[in-house]
Amino acid sequence: MVPKKKFLYLPHASQEDSCPFEEPALAFAEPAVRFPCPCCGYRTFPVPQEEALAFICPVCYWENDVFAPGEDTPSDENRGMTLKQGRENYQKWGAVRKDLVNCARPPRLEELP
Ligand SMILES: [Zn+2]
Repeated sequence: MVPKKKFLYLPHASQEDSCPFEEPALAFAEPAVRFPCPCCGYRTFPVPQEEALAFICPVCYWENDVFAPGEDTPSDENRGMTLKQGRENYQKWGAVRKDLVNCARPPRLEELP
């Protein structure tokens, strides 16, 4: 009769198995300092408004217009809409244009003004 073999070497976790890679630099992917959107006011801009060329705010979908900073200046980037109208539309629909409501997302906690 052949005796049953016993498995003597149980697998065990080794400290040598720790990840050799450094932690990813999340701070660079998601900058801690953000700048407020001129339309909805949430901190969605990765750079100051003057530098955010054609940046589209993910919360209100206002397209940043570095050439028309005035409240009542029609913005070419936003089909002639003024910043004031954009704000009113965002309050009404949750986006600057009705057809963009489904694209816009709610602001994240870290984006609150
Ligand atoms: Zn916005």
